[in-house]
Amino acid sequence: MSNEITFADLKLAEPLMRAVADAGYTRPTPVQAQAIPLVLAGGDLLAGAQTGTGKTAGFTLPILHLLTEKSAAHPRPGRPRCLILVPTRELAAQVEESVQTYGKYLPLKSMVMFGGVNINPQIKALRGQMDILVATPGRLLDHVGQKTLDLSGVEILVLDEADRMLDMGFIRDIKKILALLPKQRQNLLFSATFSDEIKTLADGLLHNPGYVEVARRNSTVELIAQSVHLIPQKLKSYLLAHLIKHHDWKQVLVFTRTKHGANRLAEKLNSDGIPAAAIHGNKSQPARTKALAQFKDGSLPVLVATDIAARGLDIDQLPHVVNFELPNVPEDYVHRIGRTGRAGSSGAAISLVDSEELPFLKSIERLIKREIPKVTVASFVPPTNLPAEAPRPPRPQHGQRRHSNTTGSTRNQPPRDGQDQKRRNSQGQKPRSPQQRTPQSRNGAQPAKPRPAQQTADQQHLSEAARHQAMPQPALFSPKSGRRGK
Ligand code: AMP
Repeated sequence: MSNEITFADLKLAEPLMRAVADAGYTRPTPVQAQAIPLVLAGGDLLAGAQTGTGKTAGFTLPILHLLTEKSAAHPRPGRPRCLILVPTRELAAQVEESVQTYGKYLPLKSMVMFGGVNINPQIKALRGQMDILVATPGRLLDHVGQKTLDLSGVEILVLDEADRMLDMGFIRDIKKILALLPKQRQNLLFSATFSDEIKTLADGLLHNPGYVEVARRNSTVELIAQSVHLIPQKLKSYLLAHLIKHHDWKQVLVFTRTKHGANRLAEKLNSDGIPAAAIHGNKSQPARTKALAQFKDGSLPVLVATDIAARGLDIDQLPHVVNFELPNVPEDYVHRIGRTGRAGSSGAAISLVDSEELPFLKSIERLIKREIPKVTVASFVPPTNLPAEAPRPPRPQHGQRRHSNTTGSTRNQPPRDGQDQKRRNSQGQKPRSPQQRTPQSRNGAQPAKPRPAQQTADQQHLSEAARHQAMPQPALFSPKSGRRGK
């Protein structure tokens, strides 16, 4: 991290410091270092920060601190003290999860509220204590209409991803909500961009705000040498072992889609004489800490991680990041590869892509607005007599995360609350409550059906990939001549 400020400098309450340490964060990110003191001082804030910068902790930590320092004036059920408005269900679930993560040693209660799910469990939850409410605007107004929510006790308002809320047409809802809040309150506005519309909103909302602006965490994506190897799943581990050995890679972070896959790959690499360790949610904290320490000090060349495990790991500027499988959500690709090539250091992000993953690749290329060069390794000779392939776990639908607690927010804009509710009901799907805490259902998301046009394009892509793999491939990559695009 570029700044020298430590978490201790920020003077956060001890239970928050403990939660931060548990999350594995060693230093505040730039947005945290700048925003936390301003919020703690009680002023309004205008922050230019995108997902991936650590902005959620940037507002959540000082809010938790402030709410703990001062008790509620008139505590009543269904009367939050802090309202965090966000544009999407996914972001709502993620932000509330952060509130729980950072507030786990505090007695404060939080709730997440969004559309597309049955309103009754939310009404029931509103009958209990609730200090922090994370909500999407449409469903929040439904509750106001039903008089199940009282916004008169809001001391702190956060508009998160304000530009996206405006893009999604929430301005009228936001204005209605603002009119329901007490005049005396602290306002924090986070936005990735500053259009005239955002400036107008900020002018009307904020009083003498402090300003924070940080560069996108992944602004170096352009500088990272990215490549794709089109390769059947069953050959991936052999190719990876070959790449590591052939190029004598000393520090490689490998992302797998599943915990089981991470274990299997680490075992396979170890059996090939490449020291590797897997880190994921099923590993004990001491095992994870040890693996990370060895990886950082260079004694362990390969760390195999799931997205969740890699989250919060302060390991930047790696020479090599490998996507053993592509993530379902394109933004996760950017988060993953953003760990290499930072601050001008050269880095490479290598993705091993099976034909089934081509739709994911396409989405990633669309997001980063560039085609990733497809390369082959002339020196790699695939083994014959492969053991039978283990059955693959089912992959979530395109654009969906396996778990809700991943980095960043999905940019697949889900329909707005009301519309979403109607759509789901018309499909006869059973709405789920946000109280259901299974990893995939927690944000209430149901697998989205691919649109017909997308399906056709994807199918076309798949058959192209099948052809590609069936054909002998030209040597597009040779270690000496470097990388050449197709
Ligand atoms: P956000 O921009 O809030 O979506 O956060 C992006 C990611 O950064 C999340 O996965 C956080 O867990 C992680 N994160 C937040 N603060 C820190 C920190 N101080 N050190 C390392 N990772 C962090």
